[in-house]
Amino acid sequence: MMQPIQDIFPLLQTPKKIFITTHHKPDGDAIGSMLGLYHYLTMKGHTVSPVSPGEIPDFLEWIPGVNIMLNFEEQQKESLEALAGADLIFCLDFNDYSRTKHLTQHLADATQPKILIDHHLFPKPVWDYGMSIPEKSSTCEMVYDFINLCGDNKLINTTIATCLYTGLMTDTGSFKFPATTASVHTMAADLKHRGLDHTKIHEEVYDSWSEARMRFLGYVLIEKMEVFHKQNSALIALSRKDLNLFKAQSGDTEGLVNYPLSISGIKFATLITERSDEVKLSFRSKGDFDVSKFSREHFEGGGHFNASGGRSKRSFIETIAYFKEILSDIHPQ
Ligand code: 5GP
Ligand code: MN
Repeated sequence: MMQPIQDIFPLLQTPKKIFITTHHKPDGDAIGSMLGLYHYLTMKGHTVSPVSPGEIPDFLEWIPGVNIMLNFEEQQKESLEALAGADLIFCLDFNDYSRTKHLTQHLADATQPKILIDHHLFPKPVWDYGMSIPEKSSTCEMVYDFINLCGDNKLINTTIATCLYTGLMTDTGSFKFPATTASVHTMAADLKHRGLDHTKIHEEVYDSWSEARMRFLGYVLIEKMEVFHKQNSALIALSRKDLNLFKAQSGDTEGLVNYPLSISGIKFATLITERSDEVKLSFRSKGDFDVSKFSREHFEGGGHFNASGGRSKRSFIETIAYFKEILSDIHPQ
């Protein structure tokens, strides 16, 4: 049984060495929550090592603290030293070790107390302490709640606010998804009081595309998007060749899966990408179609009700065919 997060407060009374990690292919919520927590715990006198399981996308390169973060795929030795030397391990924005890719076994083998802060459905029962609340908009909102629970609201400065706002904004689709509660807006207002420049964050994340990325989007929408009006669904499938054609960078496919949902009547959108090591799927829905369940049942994945991801061991072409086969049996409303 996972103990409530309040039970770690006694452990945090004296300076500790703390390892923080998040999921592979980290997004705004993953990096924002990890660095927001890093800055807070550092202010409290702890020695904190934030480690990303892999490279972080360009649109997050500006976040305060990003330079002290280790990339496990490039700095394995330093990362494992930090893990071995840690008193406590925080896991943010994922709830299954396997989401950390090459870190998976190292986390599973680690014997230090592990603390989960996450909002995905169905956490694995492997954490000692934590908060797992699928209704929460974002892990950044939960780190904010955690700081408040510690009685440290006053310590939230512009730096912490900047980190936490990033994930709050990206995981709510800029405050539009159903999980955008009144508390989310209250938190945003509170962060504004700390000197947050929300326009800058929006520009860094959404308005910093290369020309190539914009043209790649045009190509994808014209050439690669299939719409199945009968199924209220759409599919974008990108092969390695498509990605190479525009020299698409890691991060350039970010958000592509959302575009078809802006078509009237489309309730379910899928992006299939042929990566060098696996075929990756992303699912998004509007309304009552549970893409977390869909991903769990068919593509070894999971996530949230309206946003999930998965993978396929089939080839790229076979994955598309299999997906279309399943699609003919469903009718998202
Ligand atoms: P994305 O399409 O951006 O990779 O993922 C969408 C959402 O589903 C994110 O919140 C992500 O963390 C989650 N997700 C992606 N892949 C998986 C997976 O394999 N398992 C689980 N449980 N969640 C996933
Ligand atoms: Mn998240």
